Amino acid sequence: MKGLCLSSLFYAACMRQKEEVGTNLRFVPKNGLRHSSYDFSAACAAEREVEMKAFMDRDFLLSTETAKKLFHTYAESMPVLDYHCHINPQEIAEDRKFDNITQVWLGGDHYKWRAMRSNGVEEYYITGNAPDREKFQKWAETLELAIGNPLFHWSHLELQRFFGYTGVLNGETAEEVWNLCNEKLHEDSMSVRNLIRQSGVTLVCTTDDPADDLRWHKQIAEDKSFEVQVLPAWRPDKAMNLEKPDYADYLKRLGSAAGMEIRSFADLKEALKKRMAFFAEMGCRASDHALEYVMCVPETDENLEKIFAKRLAGERITREEEMKFKTAFMLFVAGEYSRLGWAMQLHYGCKRDNNTAMYSLLGPDTGFDCINNYAPSAQLADFLDLLNRGGHLPKTIIYSLNPNDDESIGSILGCFQNSDAVGKIQQGSAWWFNDNKTGMMKQMTSLANLGLLGNFVGMLTDSRSFLSYPRHEYFRRILCELVGGWVENGEFPDDERMLSRIIRGISYNNAVRYFGFDLEEK
Ligand SMILES: [Zn+2]
Repeated sequence: MKGLCLSSLFYAACMRQKEEVGTNLRFVPKNGLRHSSYDFSAACAAEREVEMKAFMDRDFLLSTETAKKLFHTYAESMPVLDYHCHINPQEIAEDRKFDNITQVWLGGDHYKWRAMRSNGVEEYYITGNAPDREKFQKWAETLELAIGNPLFHWSHLELQRFFGYTGVLNGETAEEVWNLCNEKLHEDSMSVRNLIRQSGVTLVCTTDDPADDLRWHKQIAEDKSFEVQVLPAWRPDKAMNLEKPDYADYLKRLGSAAGMEIRSFADLKEALKKRMAFFAEMGCRASDHALEYVMCVPETDENLEKIFAKRLAGERITREEEMKFKTAFMLFVAGEYSRLGWAMQLHYGCKRDNNTAMYSLLGPDTGFDCINNYAPSAQLADFLDLLNRGGHLPKTIIYSLNPNDDESIGSILGCFQNSDAVGKIQQGSAWWFNDNKTGMMKQMTSLANLGLLGNFVGMLTDSRSFLSYPRHEYFRRILCELVGGWVENGEFPDDERMLSRIIRGISYNNAVRYFGFDLEEK
């Protein structure tokens, strides 16, 4: 009898079984080597053998024959289209190289910082001035406790794919990994452009402010030696967030980028239109918004101008006025997206900067955000309905940080689908705190239950690191595991044509078609 032995937890089950049936199990890893950590199996003298998969091997996360076939035949070789991320285009333009692995891994990754804090590591080794080698040691020691955490898998996928290291990073191996990675990072193959190339990336969308001059995008587009498209994506949060103390300063910057002065809400809309035209010229096909939640509090133009004037006069605006203004702002930009054929991405459900002591030391995006469970689905539905009524509903991708919102989102999608686009309203891939095996399984299962999983635009890295592309591989393995399981359970036919279309579509082709990028489907 063959089965999977996943951990020492299984040992207890084995011992129980031994007592029950008088049978002993012997644990034999597939590669034939007996790891020291498996010594407990000696207590279980062999009568039956349980086959164990090697650590993160070729069939990592793929437990059925169909899942393996789907991944290796269809998903694995598809290119990567990273339609939402936060990498710095300047680093691509300048083809930056990194001095050491700490710079790449721990320079700005608040996921890792959080894990280190959970391990009681002093801030000095996380965001402080500790030497890079010492920071790396603390990270390696943290990682060995991160069983089940996607950071464990992402880190090892990156070590395998970019550095050819197939061992395990922990406190004891940190020195060897540190040396190996740093040596490799100095090679030309590890420049930013080459990392992108070797990951099979065809197109990247960065995240850009309307006031940005996009000079790095221009430089990259004009450089014929780099074939990957690096397009801007429009993120106008600063133009919307009128409650922020520096709002007036921001309007000055935006106004000067648009070549006009912004004195009214009508002016603001005009300035945004000019900047959208510029972004469109630069190849932009997508917008992105970070919202507290998708609100819908309509107000008349006259009263909106009053709110705006009040804010510009330096008076405090009420929470209700804020919601009214933001609703109007979103309705305006969404209408423009519809006209331009851009997709609108709505990210919401995050409560940010919860640790005020740490916020005052480190500022935003340093690992102190959490899921907010207040996001009324009725307002999201009303917002989409207002746009739809006016004939201005753009292609829309909805991401909530709260996984409990999956089903309400899934039910809203179906209310606004039509022949404008295939899968016009999408639920975005499991995001941030849900960007893990169970989170992705849950999001895709919900989407499959309530809509058409086959039209899903799939994965994005949402990352600040050039080593993050294996997250697409991670996603595809989980996708193939999910679909493979359904096929092997007789819930979907083992039909090559249909399965190939679905897997290749979700891996790549659906996003090519949905955003209308200048790319070939594969
Ligand atoms: Zn993002």
